[in-house]
Amino acid sequence: MSRTTDRLLVDGRLVPGTGGTFETIDPATEEVLGEAADGTADDMDRAIDAARRAFDSSGWAGDVAFRARCLRQLREALQNHADELRELTIKEVGAPRFLTFGAQLDAPVNDLGWFADLAESYEWTTGLGRAEPMGMPSERKVYREPVGVVGAITPWNFPHQINLAKLGPALAAGNTVVLKPAPDTPWCASVLGSIIAEETDIPAGVVNVVTSSDHALGAQLVEDPRVDLVSFTGSTATGRSVMTAAAQGLKRVFLELGGKSAFIVLDDADLKAACSYAAFNVATHAGQGCAITTRLLVPRARYDEAAAIAAKSLRRIGVGDPNDDKTLCGPVISARQRERIEGYLELAVKEGGSFACGGGRPADADRDRGFWIEPTLITGLTNESRTAREEIFGPVLVILPHDGDDDAVRVANDSPYGLSGAVHGGDLERARGVARRLRAGTVSVNGGVWYSADVPFGGYKQSGVGREMGVAGFEEYLETKAIAEGV
Ligand code: NAD
Repeated sequence: MSRTTDRLLVDGRLVPGTGGTFETIDPATEEVLGEAADGTADDMDRAIDAARRAFDSSGWAGDVAFRARCLRQLREALQNHADELRELTIKEVGAPRFLTFGAQLDAPVNDLGWFADLAESYEWTTGLGRAEPMGMPSERKVYREPVGVVGAITPWNFPHQINLAKLGPALAAGNTVVLKPAPDTPWCASVLGSIIAEETDIPAGVVNVVTSSDHALGAQLVEDPRVDLVSFTGSTATGRSVMTAAAQGLKRVFLELGGKSAFIVLDDADLKAACSYAAFNVATHAGQGCAITTRLLVPRARYDEAAAIAAKSLRRIGVGDPNDDKTLCGPVISARQRERIEGYLELAVKEGGSFACGGGRPADADRDRGFWIEPTLITGLTNESRTAREEIFGPVLVILPHDGDDDAVRVANDSPYGLSGAVHGGDLERARGVARRLRAGTVSVNGGVWYSADVPFGGYKQSGVGREMGVAGFEEYLETKAIAEGV
């Protein structure tokens, strides 16, 4: 990597971490890629201070045209480095190459333009006209304003997508940001910081990037009274801590959390196409996507047939080198994550499940380095099992039977989560009806793709609070002020 990857961005300057450096590694080979800046509590303190000052005393919050220009400039700068960023993402995240042409890189970079356009066309002021509340003639207007300093805390699975899906709307809305990325993918964030510092006119302090090996810096960001809003993506357990800590200062939180989404195959669906697609979905990026459908619900009478189709597809997919443009399922991010998945595979067996395919690490000799888990299908469990209820975050699909549309909806909704879902059926009206009954934030019907800058994404229940992307996602970063003038 020729670009600077071992610096924090604090108050417009690229600086070393006062904690020294820590290693970032390639999950496909376990090779050390290099060093990242290890930010400390002092670095975080300076970053928050810079963001606060930039919000309170620069013209950033009030200049929509300048913000839109800066966002487009950032998009262009990132696009100019697309090849370099692509190779970095494949190496640091273990992301299959084909995904970098979509959600792992190109799509979120391009989406910055959507937020620039939105900022320009947005109705920042709405006139409510005259009224005479309590006999007092008044002219009323509603103004939308940035919230202030945003603390953005992100995970490792789709780092560019999540970093930019927070930065884009937060900046378009006029906020300043302190970004704290996951310790597993510091380089994806530090290159963003260096490009912002060196190739855009974004003023000092408006964006700060603090990489660190220490999760405690996330908690510090949540607790600091100078931060007005926390935008968090990560696990439900951490999201709960964030919400609890933010409650002390009654701070606004926006949470994108875990999922255990259902893929429903109705009895009039093309079983082969649907179950193959479900297998493709769960194997993508080794299942490390919060909205991936990890419970396959099929008509009871066709359970064995459906399991055979899904297992055949998963076996054919297998694992592969993320550099190869045909690879769908690369490595998982770390040894720790692999152990966590293996723990769930053991649990599945204890709970009475069997592996129709996969079930552990691949046997091939060229996978003895790196963190690999074979695409796995688990049969024989009920929706009450922990394996079917808890997020595994690996290429692991649990297949469950249903007894018709009502039962499929019941099983799908019988989950602490409600992030996403899919319905496949021959009769579109009927499939749409089932989709409408799912308690989940995004649903795909017959392969429809909801992922896009203008589509709000987020969860019901323990999958989160609020929405990212779309107009709803932009408005998460706004306050509402009403002014009434006596006339
Ligand atoms: P994680 O919760 O362990 O960490 C996420 C981020 O939070 C990291 O930057 C981490 O350093 C930070 N953090 C850790 N403890 C903290 C604390 N007490 N206070 C504040 N910040 C803290 O999650 P992960 O393992 O990095 O990512 C995987 C999880 O993320 C999965 O559960 C997945 O479903 C979820 N996820 C959700 C979405 C979504 O949009 N809903 C998207 C991607 C990932």
